[in-house]
Parts: sequence; structure tokens; C-alpha cells
Amino acid sequence: MIALLGGTFDPIHIGHLRAASEAAQALDAEVRLIPAKLPPHRPQPEASAGQRLDMLRIALSGSTQLSADDRELRREGPSYSVDTLAELRLELGARQCLALMVGADAFAGFSTWHRWLDILELAHIVVLNRPGAATVKDWPASLNAQVAARHCADAAALRMEAAGRVLMLDIPALAVSATSVRESLARGSSVRWLVPDPVLEYIAQQGLYRGGRGG
Ligand code: ATP
Repeated sequence: MIALLGGTFDPIHIGHLRAASEAAQALDAEVRLIPAKLPPHRPQPEASAGQRLDMLRIALSGSTQLSADDRELRREGPSYSVDTLAELRLELGARQCLALMVGADAFAGFSTWHRWLDILELAHIVVLNRPGAATVKDWPASLNAQVAARHCADAAALRMEAAGRVLMLDIPALAVSATSVRESLARGSSVRWLVPDPVLEYIAQQGLYRGGRGG
């Protein structure tokens, strides 16, 4: 199985890394982290696309289970997951089990994503729990209906099909966000142990997140 974790990674932190690693083990999957160039759903990132990719590569260096995929940064225009998945589906073929992993916070807004129902035709969705995220009862009815129809109990059941199911994956998620990391750095507080040391060195060297946009 190939599982994707898209995001801004502004910057990558241990919440992403632990979630990706837990999911890789639970799903027995190769996990690819895909930084978005122009996230359609949110304010623009503070670090440049190149810097976010650098940080991802630094954090993942030496990992065999997790890798960075820069296809969205190489594509013109906004980063829509549906386009990324269509591209991957062409490369991997119709039978490869492909999953898009989404944090529970992001999944609560999934029914507003560009061509969200097409996404479900191209890949499975694996929802990673995240502290503080909305729960099922807060999801829109259209999303609840899709989850009810496509719900899958475990990774073994997910592997039986190439796409189209939704798995709620219970991982021990850490209450860390890139927003809190950026805020701490802007205040001059230490984020050591929340962000890998080599990434922190890069942040310092590039003068990123010092308060005010653009570092
Ligand atoms: P920001 O605070 O800037 O919104 P973020 O920490 O949520 O950033 P993103 O790059 O937006 O990071 O996250 C990419 C993906 O990883 C999203 O699906 C998000 O839900 C998930 N994710 C981020 N942090 C965690 C975490 N601590 N535990 C589980 N999933 C996470």
C-alpha cells in the first residue's frame, strides 16, 4: 500500500513525523509526504516552497519508510489533491492500493475540497486522529453519509480494494501544530524536540519564522 500525507509542512514537526510513522506501521505502507505549493484552503505559507521541501528532506533523510514527493511543487497552479491522485493513479495503475491520509482536523472540511467525491474514486481516505479535532457529530451530513457508506474496519480490509474506502486510524497523535511551532519561534521560545534538530539548524540558518511574514 502507498499512503500519502499532503500538507503545508511550514515547518515539518514531530506531529507529522510520528503520525506518518505510526500510519506506515499500522497500514504496512510506504508513506510519501507531499508538500503543497499553493494550499487552496488556507493562508499562504511563511516559508517558500523550496524551503518547506528542504526541511522535509532534511527531516526524512535516512528514513526507509517515509519519503518526500515534490510533484505538487513542480506543477503549475494550485495544489488540488484530486490532480495529484489522478497523476499517481496513472503511474501506479488501477490495482495498486492507494490511500490519502488526512488529519481529523482537515477531514472535517473534506466535503469542501475540490472534486472531493472524485478523490474517493481514486484513493482510500485514512483519517488520522488529532487532539482537538472535530468529531463525527460535527461533520456535515454529506460527509457523514459518505463515511457511513464507505467505512472500513481495519487495514486488512482496506488492502482488499484499490480505492474508495474510509478508515479511521487510531494513532497516538501528538498535540503539536506548525502554527504553534511558528508562534513559539516568533516569540523567541525554544521548539527543540518538537522539530528535528537538523531542521532547526536550517530554520536558524535561513532566518525563518522570526516574526512577521517572510521570516
Ligand atoms: P498549521 O498549524 O500550519 O495548520 P499543521 O501542523 O496542521 O499546520 P499541515 O502541514 O497543515 O500541519 O498538516 C499536514 C497534515 O498532517 C494534515 O492532514 C494534518 O491534519 C496532519 N497533521 C499535522 N499535525 C498532526 C499531528 N500532530 N497529529 C496528526 N496529524 C497531524
